[in-house]
Parts: sequence; structure tokens; C-alpha cells
Amino acid sequence: MRRAVYPGSFDPVTNGHLDIIKRASEQFDEVIVGVLNNSKKTPLFSAEERVNMIKCITSDLPNIRVRSFEGLSVNFVRECGAQVIIRGLRAITDFEYELQMAQTNRVMAPDVDTMFLITSLEYAYLSSTTVKEVASFGEDLDKFVQPVVADALRNKFRTRIMQ
Ligand code: ADP
Repeated sequence: MRRAVYPGSFDPVTNGHLDIIKRASEQFDEVIVGVLNNSKKTPLFSAEERVNMIKCITSDLPNIRVRSFEGLSVNFVRECGAQVIIRGLRAITDFEYELQMAQTNRVMAPDVDTMFLITSLEYAYLSSTTVKEVASFGEDLDKFVQPVVADALRNKFRTRIMQ
């Protein structure tokens, strides 16, 4: 069984992430999307909300599982019984950080390898941060995220404005 883990914050999941999930699902028997629950960060969406959104938009992909985790990705990868970490690369600016992470992970866990998928051109500019920025101004989100995520973003910012 070839199993990979795609770890990230996914706050929230964008069409760029979804593209990577779909492409990874074609390469592995099973892909586990790992939603990082980082106590040092204050995400817009709780880990549970992020997991549920990813489950919802990947429900047509039979070999995708979604779980939240805390701590180091390599420990989560081992716990899942996976051999590979998937990461997406958008631009040269991603490269330095990703290289450092992949090399650090390799030292900590020589049995785990990192594979990079290069973003599809149409999603190269997309990030969760810019999507949140656009959402905060109440603009149309349909080109960036799936409808269920757009709804969740609208609700989140509506609630925030009312507070
Ligand atoms: P992290 O905080 O771990 O970087 P993100 O949710 O921002 O979490 O990203 C998770 C992974 O998805 C990273 O490898 C990132 O480079 C990749 N990624 C993010 N946006 C895109 C995109 N538009 N196209 C391809 N890969 C992406």
C-alpha cells in the first residue's frame, strides 16, 4: 500500500490545494490530508472546521482521508503508516522554506521522503492568506475556493463584522 500524507494549515483549503490533493490521489493508493493544529497560531477556522471542509470537497475521491494532527509532520506520517510527504510548490519563494523543511525531515526520518508537486498554472498565485483578504472585503470567492468554503468564509466574516 503506497500511502502519502499531504500536511498543511489549509486555513482554508483553496482550489490550489484541491488540485494538489487530486493529483496526489492519482499517484498513491491512499492520501491522508493532515490538517495542522498549531497551538502557536490563531487560525481563522478551527482544525475541525478545516477538516470538515476538506472532507466535503473531496467526498468524490475514494482514496482521500482527512485528519488533524499536532506536532511534527514526520511523526504524523509515521503514525499514519505512510512513506511520503506531499508538498505543493508555487513559486521560487516557496522553494527555500520547503527545501529546508524537507531536508530537516529527512534527517529526522530517513525512512520518509518528500515529493513536490508543482502548482498548476491557473492556481500559481493562490494562497489561503489572499483568499481571506479578499473574503474580508466581501468580494466574490468563486474563482478561488469551492462553494462550501466560500460560504464558510462569508459566514465567518459576517459574524466578525457583527461582533
Ligand atoms: P503551510 O502553513 O504548511 O505552508 P498551507 O495550507 O499554506 O500550509 O499549504 C500547504 C501546502 O500546499 C504547501 O506545500 C503549499 O506550498 C501548498 N500550496 C498552497 N497553495 C498552493 C497552490 N495554490 N498551488 C499549489 N500548492 C499550494
